[in-house]
This record gives sequence, C-alpha cells and structure tokens, in this order.
Amino acid sequence: MSMRSLLNRIAWKYRRTVSRRFCRRMVAISTKVPLISFSFDDAPRSAFSHGGDILKAHGARATFFVSFGLLGSESPSGTIAFEDDLCRAVEEGHELGCHTFDHKDPWKTPTEVFEQSVLKNRQALARILPETAFAAFAYPLCGPRPATKRRVGKLFNCCRGGGQTFNVGMADLNLLKAFFLDIRNGDNIDTVRRLIDRNSESRGWLIFATHDVVDDPSPYGCTKKFFEEVVAYSARSDARLLPVGKACQELQASRSESTISI
Ligand SMILES: [Zn+2]
Repeated sequence: MSMRSLLNRIAWKYRRTVSRRFCRRMVAISTKVPLISFSFDDAPRSAFSHGGDILKAHGARATFFVSFGLLGSESPSGTIAFEDDLCRAVEEGHELGCHTFDHKDPWKTPTEVFEQSVLKNRQALARILPETAFAAFAYPLCGPRPATKRRVGKLFNCCRGGGQTFNVGMADLNLLKAFFLDIRNGDNIDTVRRLIDRNSESRGWLIFATHDVVDDPSPYGCTKKFFEEVVAYSARSDARLLPVGKACQELQASRSESTISI
C-alpha cells in the first residue's frame, strides 16, 4: 500500500470514529416487531421507477433522500429525478428525506454553510409540495464533523449515515446505521438474507440504502433482480417494512430515550 493511500485510510477511519462518538442522541430500539426501511440517496429516476415500484408491489414504501440542487442532472447513478417524480412519489405514499441542497460534504464543509444547504433544500421542497416536510435526513458522502452533527440533529427526528449493519440496542438518532446495496455486496443475496435474519432475531431496525436500480447499475446501485430479491425476503420475514421517518416515529412512540452530548 502506498503512503498516500495509507494516510487516506487513517484519515477516513479517524473521521468515521469522530462522527460516531460525538454529539449522539441515543434511543433504545425496543420494538416488539423488527423494522426494515428502504432508502435511496440522491433520488435517481430509476430509484422511483424501479425501486419504488418493486416496494409498492410488496405493500411497502420508500424514503427518497433528495438534493434539490441535483434535480434533472446527470450523475454517476444516472439521471436524477425531476420535480414531477417527487410529487408522484408523495402521492403514492413514499417519503421524501433531506440530503442537503448541494450534496455537501459534511466533514469538509463549514457547519454554517452545511446548515444553509439543509435549509435551502427545505425551502425548495416547500415551494413544490407545501403540505410536505422532510421526514428524515441522510448525510451525503461521509460522516459529519461533530458541530455539524449537533446542529443538523436538532432539525430532524433522525439522521442516517452508513456502516453496513443494522441498528440494535442503543442507537444514535443523529447518525443511524444503514446497509448499502451496492458494489460492495454485488448480487450476494445470502449475505443480505443473513443480515435480515439477524435483524429479526435482535428485533432491530435495518435500514437499506442504495442509489440507482437498473439492469446495469453504477457502483453505487444494484440490479432490479437483486433489489426485488431483497425486498421479497424482507417482506417474507417477520419485520414491518416502513419508510425511515415512519419507523422513527414508531420507535419514538415506545421509546426510553437518553441524550448524550459530548
Ligand atoms: Zn448522496
């Protein structure tokens, strides 16, 4: 390994550790029935047309984490949604979540600038869907710096990161863990089935995340066939399938919360 990639890896681990350790808002995951949520970051059109439709066919709904500044643009995950796609998704019972207006890096961006991007995204949503509010927040790219995590945590019921696992025991509402369906697991359905089984045994909250859902996905997305298999196995499990914001509401209705701010 080169010195440069070693230093990058150390920096990435340091950022991940700091993001996780500080400014936490802990909640006990104490639900009688395990929970599974499906979310899509950046909201490429295929997430709506394929991902959303697959979920709907199984009686479930998604959370689309949207950056209004990206709407209609070309991205590595394909064409990003248009305003009409968002309106249709809300009509069909899906949730919209916030992903900042500009898809800002939460570690490198000054906290005030990052917060402005969050608020600008809210205003953009209010212009096209005044009756709707963002149900949750997902950090773009990586974990946040502590001051940003504290500030943004106050604006949403819950905020999601990554981590490739599920939430169990005491979970951090300011940085919930998610499992990305992307190039890291390829089409390995057995790994995902085991994760769903472990989530059921632990009565945890498993949040899936991905980007595009197409036959030939980007490294950040997955195939339609794979996504269909994951949703079908989730629907056959004993978990309730709820969008991120609704699942959080369910937890908060039956929670014992303690806040830890460091
Ligand atoms: Zn993103």
